[in-house]
Amino acid sequence: MKELWVKNGLVFTEEGFREINIRVIDERIDSLIKNEAEPLIEETDTIIDASGCLVVPGFIDAHVHFNDPGRTDWEGIETGSRAAAIGGTTTIFDMPLNCAPSVTNFKNLLDKKEYLTSMSHVDYALWGGMTDTNLDNRLELTQMSKGIIAWKAFMSESGIEDFRFVSPVGLKKAMQAAKEDNKILALHAEWEEEIDRLTAYYKHRAGINERKAFLASRSISAEEKAVSYALDLAAKNGTALHFVHISSAKVVGLIEQAKKSGVNVTVETCPHYLIFDEEDFLKNGAILKCAPPLRPREEVEGLWDCMQRGWIDTIGSDHSPCLYSMKATDSIWDAWGGIQGVQFTWLSLLDEALKRKINLKQILPLGTSNVAERFGIADRKGWIRPGLDADFVLIRLDESTVADKQSFAFRNAYSPYENRKFLLKVKKTILRGKVIYDDLSGVIKEKLGVCL
Ligand SMILES: [Zn+2]
Repeated sequence: MKELWVKNGLVFTEEGFREINIRVIDERIDSLIKNEAEPLIEETDTIIDASGCLVVPGFIDAHVHFNDPGRTDWEGIETGSRAAAIGGTTTIFDMPLNCAPSVTNFKNLLDKKEYLTSMSHVDYALWGGMTDTNLDNRLELTQMSKGIIAWKAFMSESGIEDFRFVSPVGLKKAMQAAKEDNKILALHAEWEEEIDRLTAYYKHRAGINERKAFLASRSISAEEKAVSYALDLAAKNGTALHFVHISSAKVVGLIEQAKKSGVNVTVETCPHYLIFDEEDFLKNGAILKCAPPLRPREEVEGLWDCMQRGWIDTIGSDHSPCLYSMKATDSIWDAWGGIQGVQFTWLSLLDEALKRKINLKQILPLGTSNVAERFGIADRKGWIRPGLDADFVLIRLDESTVADKQSFAFRNAYSPYENRKFLLKVKKTILRGKVIYDDLSGVIKEKLGVCL
């Protein structure tokens, strides 16, 4: 039996922030004990002094593309999970595409699982992919559904050859399959026909700024249309839906309405939609290219308003890396779309929330308990509560972090967050009772992450 104490911290619990000590036995939280003031604590192997720190549950990032196996030059689970750990994330859900092959059949799922063994610094789960090419293979989908955290499908081109988008007709089948196997279906919701049409109109159009043309080709109305269509189908089929990376407050409003009317639906947004806007994209180009694209400032403000109303359920990084050369293309249309941010998800978001004087109690669940509860891992993750995994992040609000290039732990050293300063610092990340990152000594060598 191994014992660990985290003492003197301000701990985020179900009752809000409390001055308590946490006792950990082996990998689990054993008890929360009222803090008797112990001003002079000597740190030992079994005692961590969290004086001056917030102690919050390890973050769960339900949306990363770590590209392993097959595209390790873009990222890889080792570098990706290292960056996650530095940013306070203790669990990631890896998407079924951008690794090669994509996770669209049972064999690829098993192969990926086996390949990733002992390679991750943080705990992980795997998404399964539904595409137009595997939808009719019900037996295979059912087999896969037992080994995945949830399903992911695209309603528009994914940019990955072996991950075809699901047509409007196919989506009905996807909804039924997810429902029958009792799994959540997550959607990249942009309406392909509209994007296709707008892209044909704007691409290579003379006299219009190329970056502006790209923004115009991926309209909010394409997002709205896809979301409305999917909500309607989910209501009819009783499917549990999760919309990833929603970029517009108007669309969040639509989802909220459906939620109120009884549709089983949740919504994710990403830090880049809450921090950057289309002006940043027009200025910086491909490094901020993503789909859906960055939106006008009023949408960014609208999303913060939605957050405060409690209309957004989860925050995911959508860490989607590539080689720098794939960003440094002559034309914006050819550049790879995706933002590298997993290391800064919570630093950037909490920094922004603090500047906006938003109570952290409102924000933290979006990366912890909300994710755990939605994806069925709340018996292990998401809260600081006896019986759960001892996953914590120690954060100081009186120190800062600069996102300098040397600090990037992801494989390709570029990010739109480069040189940004966050008015907080991750001091330690603890995974199942073991310190895996310390701001003085870095990430430990052992890779302790396991597949959930
Ligand atoms: Zn993604």
